[in-house]
Amino acid sequence: MSTSTAIPAAVEADFHEPPVEHFDVLIVGAGLSGIGAACHLSGACPAKTFAILEARDAIGGTWDLFRYPGIRSDSDMYTLGYAFRPWEDAKAIADGPSILEYIRSTARDHDVVDEIRFHHRVVRAEWSTGDARWTVHAERSDTGETVRVTCGFLFMCTGYYRYDQGYTPEFAGTDRFRGQVVHPQLWPEDLDYDGKRVVVIGSGATAVTLVPAMAERAGHVTMLQRSPTYIVSLPAEDPIAELVKRFLPSRLAYSIVRWKNVLLTTAFFQLSRRAPKLVKGMIRKGVMRRLPAGYDVDTHFNPHYNPWDQRVCLVPDGDLFESIKAGRASIVTDRIETFTERGLKLASGGELDADIIITATGLNLLPIGGMEIAVDGREVKLSDTVGYKGIMFSGVPNLAVALGYSNASWTLKCDLTCEYVCRLLNHMDARGYSHCTPREPDPSLPREAFLDLVSGYVLRSIDQFPKQGARTPWRLHQNYARDIALLRRGALEDEGVEFSRARAPARQAAQVAA
Ligand SMILES: Cc1cc2nc3c(=O)[nH]c(=O)nc-3n(C[C@H](O)[C@H](O)[C@H](O)COP(=O)(O)OP(=O)(O)OC[C@H]3O[C@@H](n4cnc5c(N)ncnc54)[C@H](O)[C@@H]3O)c2cc1C
Repeated sequence: MSTSTAIPAAVEADFHEPPVEHFDVLIVGAGLSGIGAACHLSGACPAKTFAILEARDAIGGTWDLFRYPGIRSDSDMYTLGYAFRPWEDAKAIADGPSILEYIRSTARDHDVVDEIRFHHRVVRAEWSTGDARWTVHAERSDTGETVRVTCGFLFMCTGYYRYDQGYTPEFAGTDRFRGQVVHPQLWPEDLDYDGKRVVVIGSGATAVTLVPAMAERAGHVTMLQRSPTYIVSLPAEDPIAELVKRFLPSRLAYSIVRWKNVLLTTAFFQLSRRAPKLVKGMIRKGVMRRLPAGYDVDTHFNPHYNPWDQRVCLVPDGDLFESIKAGRASIVTDRIETFTERGLKLASGGELDADIIITATGLNLLPIGGMEIAVDGREVKLSDTVGYKGIMFSGVPNLAVALGYSNASWTLKCDLTCEYVCRLLNHMDARGYSHCTPREPDPSLPREAFLDLVSGYVLRSIDQFPKQGARTPWRLHQNYARDIALLRRGALEDEGVEFSRARAPARQAAQVAA
C-alpha cells in the first residue's frame, strides 16, 4: 500500500502553503537498493505508505548512469541480484544493460514504479521529536521548485558516490592535449574510437573493463597505471550454476548457487587476510598462466599491498589478458609527468601518443546522497556519529541507510538491511513506538574508520563518513553470515538503541484544540 496522507492546509502554520504530503516511509534513490527496499517494504509491511524520491529521471542508479563500452558487474549476479528474484541469465558476470533491465523488471513486477517521484533531489531532512517525523526537502531538477514531504522513517538508498562528477586527479598540461579526454562517468554517446590510439589511465575495475572492450575496435589501447591491482579471471558463465539450473527449480537453484558464491568469496577474503602470501602467489600464478611466456608480471601485476587491502578486480574469461596476448592492448606502469600536445610524458622519460585519453581514475565518495541532516534543530555532522549495525547512526532517529559490502556483492548486505528495516518498522508498530534512536556508545571506546580498505578513493573521503566502534552492534563486520545472525535473527532491542513513544504530536494537539 502506498497512498500518502496530506496534512490539511488548515492545520499548517502558513495558510498559503500547499499541503505537505506525508508517508510512513520515504525511500531516497531508485537504484538497485532503492528498488529492492520498495519491494521488501511492500511485501513485509503492506500497510505502510511509502514513496521513492529519485534525483534523476530514471530507475537503475549506477546501471543507468554508466554507459562506457563493456560496462558490466565485477561480482557475480547470483549475489549481486536480489535474494527474492532469481537471476536467470546464463552470464554470471553480466553486462550493464542486462542488470538495468533486471532492476527495471523487478520494479515493474513488484508494482513499485508508480511510487517513484523522479527529478526529486533530496537536499535536507529535519527530524522533529515532538512530531515524530522527518521533514524532507527536495529540489526538483525539472521545474526548479523546492518540495517538502514528511515521513515517519527515512530510508537512504543513495549509493556511495557523487553522480555529477567522477574523480580526476590534477594532471599537469591537460589543456595542451589536442585529443579528447573522457571520464567514464560522463561517456559521450557518440565517442568514435575506431582505429584510434587510446590510453586508459587507471588500474581499477573500470579500467580493466574498458581496456578489452575498447581494444575490439580501437587501433591500440594502453592501460597506464601508477601501480598494479590484483586481477583474477573467472568464467563469465558459471558452469556449476548452469548445471544446477538444469536440474532444479529456478528459485532453489538460485539460492544454492548464491550460497556457493557467498561461501567461496568469503573463504577467499578470509584466506587473503590470514595468508596473504599464499593468495598473492595463487593470483600471480593465475595471471602468468594467461599471459605469454616472459611477460613482465612483476612490474604490471604485482601490487605492493596484500590482496583485499584494496578491492580485487575480476575479469570474465580473462578478457584483459586475451587482448594483451593478441597485441591489441598493453600495460604501462609509470607516473604521468605531464599531458603534452600528442599524449602523455611519463616520469621514466617515455612518451605515450594518444588520440583519446580516458581518465578511469575513480569516483568521489558521498555518503547519504550529500543530504544535510538536522535533529530537533541541531545540525548533525555524519562524521561525528557512529554507525549502528552498519545501518543507522548514533543520535539520528528513524533513519537507515542501504550500504553494501566492500568485500562482496552490494546486494547481499542491502537485502539484509531491508529485511532489518521491515522487522524494525513492524516491531515499532507492534509496541506502539514512534522513535528508534541508536544511542552513542561509551565515548571512551575506540573509534575506527567506517571502511577498512586503503584504496585511494576510500582514503580521500573517509573523513565524511561515520565512524565504527570496536564491537557489535557498532562494528561493521563485512561478513554475510554474521550479518544474517545480527540483522535477520538478532534482537531488535539491545544496548545500542533506544525506543520511545511520542507524546501527542503538536499538530494533532492543535487540531483537537481547534
Ligand atoms: C561501474 C560500477 C560497477 C560496479 N559493479 C559492482 C559489482 O559488480 N558488484 C557490486 O557489488 N557492486 C558494484 N558496484 C557498486 C554499485 O554501485 C552497487 O552494486 C549498486 O549498484 C549500488 O546500488 P544503489 O542503489 O545502492 O546505489 P546507486 O546505484 O548509486 O543508486 C543510487 C540512486 O540514488 C539516487 N540519489 C543519490 N542521491 C540522491 C539524493 N540526494 N536525492 C535523490 N536521489 C538520490 C541516484 O540518482 C541513484 O539513482 C559498481 C559500481 C560502479 C560505479
